[in-house]
Amino acid sequence: MLQLSSAPVRPSLLMPSLAAVVAIAIFVTDTVTPLDIAIAVLYVAVVLLAMDFAGRKGILFVAGGCAALTVLSYAITHEHDPASGPFLRCLISLVAIAITGALAARHQGTIESLREHASLLDLTHDTIFVRNQDDVITYWNRAATELYGWRPEQAIGRKAAELLNTEFPAPFDDIMSELKRTGRWEGELVHTARDGRRLVVASRWALQRDGRGRPGAILETNNDISDRRQVEDGLLRAQRELAHVARVATLGELTASIAHEVNQPLAAVVTNGEAGLRWLGRPVPDVGQARASVENMIKNGQRASEVVRRLRALSRKSDPSYAPVSLADVVNDVALLIGRELQGHRTTLGVSAAEGLPLVQGDRVQLQQVVMNLLMNGMQAMDGVSARPHRLVVEIARSAEEPQSIVLTVSDAGPGIDPASLGRLFEAFFTTRQDGMGMGLSISRSIVEAHGGRIWATNRPEGGARFHVSLPIAEERIA
Ligand code: ADP
Repeated sequence: MLQLSSAPVRPSLLMPSLAAVVAIAIFVTDTVTPLDIAIAVLYVAVVLLAMDFAGRKGILFVAGGCAALTVLSYAITHEHDPASGPFLRCLISLVAIAITGALAARHQGTIESLREHASLLDLTHDTIFVRNQDDVITYWNRAATELYGWRPEQAIGRKAAELLNTEFPAPFDDIMSELKRTGRWEGELVHTARDGRRLVVASRWALQRDGRGRPGAILETNNDISDRRQVEDGLLRAQRELAHVARVATLGELTASIAHEVNQPLAAVVTNGEAGLRWLGRPVPDVGQARASVENMIKNGQRASEVVRRLRALSRKSDPSYAPVSLADVVNDVALLIGRELQGHRTTLGVSAAEGLPLVQGDRVQLQQVVMNLLMNGMQAMDGVSARPHRLVVEIARSAEEPQSIVLTVSDAGPGIDPASLGRLFEAFFTTRQDGMGMGLSISRSIVEAHGGRIWATNRPEGGARFHVSLPIAEERIA
């Protein structure tokens, strides 16, 4: 296979010397031996040998030299007679040399221009290499050498995935079948350079097909995004830590009502325990009543431990884990924790979820944080309202505009949002509350957007604000 390496070709004297020896041997044989055959035709071999070391002009020069030697040999050994056999043989040889020279020069010209095009690929900062269907590298540009540390002669002929220790985002066979289906593939890969550095690259593959549509070479272009990825990862970590701090701060605000949520079932456990003892302490123990008391104790104990479990999940600092989750369950989790707080603010909470809603793909704790922020905001917004009941309504339904999303809305009966603030609500540190931090909605937005969703606010015509969170459906499964 022709390999178009743009690397400089090292001149070797072997082939020019061989061509010279062959040319001299033909000249001597043609001049000295009285054979009646067109020996000079063999000069075409010299022209073909020249293809290995000479350029287009060089080949024409060698062909011209061979023609001159043919004529010289004829001039030395024969009288000029246009009708004679030797003259015709000389003519045939000259024609053969001329045709071979012209074809070889044209072929060499094509190769030279291809090599020139290939060398253009050395000018780009992008890493470019070509692999065949067996993943073997056939071309390797200068940027690839600079990034990975392997020179073309070290890389060409090696399997790309082995040489670069590639980590793929999906099984290699799946990527190859997508490439064969669409002719393209894009994604992020992790490569290991020669010196052991791990590199994150944005990779684009394009598949070349032959005349019959069969897959051939694969052109792979890679951009090193390791630095960008590091900054992004740092930003994401900082965002997560901030979200965690805000979550813990919110839980701090709720300490009194959460303590109540735990205390209430514990007090019920004690009361039921005492009642149970009394039923058993009767002259004729009432086992049925005692049993009912114990069952109540178990139920209340479970409720207390459920509150603690949710509390621990919310305060724990852990990486997000995305899984199909029911938004109705998320709302119930939060309602259990803030029920007492809502009561304290004379707020009632109504939750309505459409039947058979699909699940969304998300991190349960993060989504709880979003819902908690929205409910607390609505509750606080209604604090100064005395004209109408403090009612918070959560509705969960399939989105009318985006069929592949579920929308959760939280409506309150507060003063609504000042139209001048509508555009800034989700900015960090935007707050109109005296003791507010202005981080709740900004954190909620980053969480929702990291889930591939959207969050926005509107004012209700009948008064109050409505916050909408739209999240993509995980899969068509009934919640
Ligand atoms: P904070 O609650 O600390 O102020 P947020 O980011 O949660 O921070 O909210 C930012 C601002 O958005 C609030 O100060 C308030 O002006 C406005 N806001 C949020 N929710 C509501 C709501 N339900 N009704 C009216 N205004 C709201």
